[in-house]
Amino acid sequence: MEKILEVNNLHVTFTTYGGTVKAVRGVNFHLHKGETLAIVGESGCGKSVTSNAIMRLTPEPPGKISQGEILFHGKDLTKVWEKEMRSIRGVDISMIFQDPMTALNPTLTIGTQLMEGLKQHQNVSGSDAKKKALEMMDLVGIPNPEERLKQYPHQFSGGMRQRIVIAIALICEPELLIADEPTTALDVTIQAQILELFGRIQEETGVSIILITHDLGVVAKIADRIAVMYAGKIIETGTKREIFYEPQHPYTQGLLKSVPRLDLDGEKLTPIDGTPPDLFSPPQGCPFTARCPFAMEVCDKVYPGDSKLSGTHQVNCWLQDERAKQLLAVSTVR
Ligand code: SF4
Ligand code: MG
Repeated sequence: MEKILEVNNLHVTFTTYGGTVKAVRGVNFHLHKGETLAIVGESGCGKSVTSNAIMRLTPEPPGKISQGEILFHGKDLTKVWEKEMRSIRGVDISMIFQDPMTALNPTLTIGTQLMEGLKQHQNVSGSDAKKKALEMMDLVGIPNPEERLKQYPHQFSGGMRQRIVIAIALICEPELLIADEPTTALDVTIQAQILELFGRIQEETGVSIILITHDLGVVAKIADRIAVMYAGKIIETGTKREIFYEPQHPYTQGLLKSVPRLDLDGEKLTPIDGTPPDLFSPPQGCPFTARCPFAMEVCDKVYPGDSKLSGTHQVNCWLQDERAKQLLAVSTVR
């Protein structure tokens, strides 16, 4: 399968009066054409910082992509000029955010906002732009598109607004769509409809999707692969099956235990005790050490290597690191 995106050793920092926050610390992942990769983790783990970096939306300063590369079809986006980035954003790579209200301009009609991107980036006539806008309204399931184009954002429900935001993101036919918590602001039934819509859009357009979320229920519905982030690092990656049925990192296991299960009505959730480490001075070893029930002496001192459990499943945990056996052997000898 063709790789459309490859992120290698990405580091993002934020300089504050209190010091430098190491928000993203050596992140690696890739995305194939037509697949959905979910990046999951608690708030503050660096998932939005990562996706903003791909769009080159890191506010500089105080933010900075301090190391690494973001290869989109082999081109390193960390190195392109802002002018070129402007022609990539919204055209080749689009992004949608959590709150559909702030993403839309309340003073412009939906039609104007839909056609704006087309007119700006592609040299299309007014009638072709309108035709395309109507097509997009249809794709995202908005009834009476002809009339609806003339209306303003406040005339739509939250779910409909998010459909419009998705239509705007897709109108220039991007290859990559980044969705940062796209359903968090919506109620559960609408959430389910929007997630279904993502699936249908992917089938119809072949767009690749990076989904940023803290919600494993959302992930279960639409992800092909999952990357779990913790304290600025990806600590486990695998197919949806591997992560849900054979999670190997104690943090991933803890996350899954804290997901409410419909079949276990009334059973208590077990959130993971403790809090993530301070990213001003993150630990050099495994960042989960302080919360991990299996932590060993080595965990705190040395970051575990990449352990490949299958062609798609990878974890960073000393429980799976080959070197642990040697280290343990050494410590018993002593
Ligand atoms: Fe726990 Fe150690 Fe694995 Fe980190 S490396 S998750 S502390 S066992
Ligand atoms: Mg976020």
